[in-house]
Amino acid sequence: MKEHLEMEKQLAAKEAVKFIKDNQTVGLGTGSTAYYAIVEIGKLINRGLKIKVVPTSTKISNLAKSLNIPLIDIKEVTSIDVFVRDLETPIAFEIQLSPQSLAKTLVRQSKYIRDCVTACWLFENPVPKLINERPDLPVFYVDEAADSSLHVNLGTRRKLPIRSFLENFIAGRIQFKEEIQTSVKQSVDLVFYEMQCWKCKETNHLYFIDNPFYSSCGAKIIPDEALWDSSSAEYFPEIVELAKKIAADRKDLNLRLATIKERHSYTVDQSYTSFGCLKCDSIFGDFYVMQTKIDQIYGPKDLMCSGKIELNKIKNLPIPHWCFPDDKKYCCK
Ligand SMILES: [Zn+2]
Ligand SMILES: [Zn+2]
Repeated sequence: MKEHLEMEKQLAAKEAVKFIKDNQTVGLGTGSTAYYAIVEIGKLINRGLKIKVVPTSTKISNLAKSLNIPLIDIKEVTSIDVFVRDLETPIAFEIQLSPQSLAKTLVRQSKYIRDCVTACWLFENPVPKLINERPDLPVFYVDEAADSSLHVNLGTRRKLPIRSFLENFIAGRIQFKEEIQTSVKQSVDLVFYEMQCWKCKETNHLYFIDNPFYSSCGAKIIPDEALWDSSSAEYFPEIVELAKKIAADRKDLNLRLATIKERHSYTVDQSYTSFGCLKCDSIFGDFYVMQTKIDQIYGPKDLMCSGKIELNKIKNLPIPHWCFPDDKKYCCK
């Protein structure tokens, strides 16, 4: 049985190596298929094939050196033409300097699919349009950190060092999911700001959430995306509780929290959950709140307090993303 599996791996390696042509850059993943592939590549190079190999493990790197295979470091690579992964279809990583339209990406992808190759594009510039139109395409953008190391953006939600990205993408651990699952534990930064009641002139404190939530796979969820049972994340019972706790714990701040409840607005002739005056209960209309809040979002903040909450329930949100959980628990099936 084990022998049979080894034979299959050798065959897979031979198949993968068939895609390799002169002047290409070939990435080699970890695992025994990559091991067999490099032995095959060694033979081809002896017969005159001119390629460069990017190893993703020291084991593969040492083996390649012993076979006199020219190696290049992942940092020097501008594009990888063929990637050999363990037992599965080869992956072509294309690093692109120029933008590429959705139509062109789809055409090129269909060619790869025809050849039983998985394509993956790594763009040097952000590709929001492509990602917004087709979040399911393996299209990512790479950026350079201050120490000149390269990182791959999984959408705008999470970043991985390029080496970790390549290894995990090859291993099939970075998967596209239609839904995101909120993590139970969240850290929250609340910005408190003063607002005077338009009617009785009493000073009230309002707040907003100034940080993203996180999914169970570590992806960012902006508070506006995380809405459920509520028109604003500020009105989540867990957040209201945290604001009250901060006000009670920090008596020195003298926070006079505006109250949150459903009130009727005569301006729009509708009832909705809102902040309102703690003294006279007048509604603070959304527009009025927004005007004051904008100064706080873009200007210096009056007061920021941080705390932790536990959400009363885990929620699946319809947010497509590339899911890469550390604990292998994906956001959805
Ligand atoms: Zn008032
Ligand atoms: Zn996820």
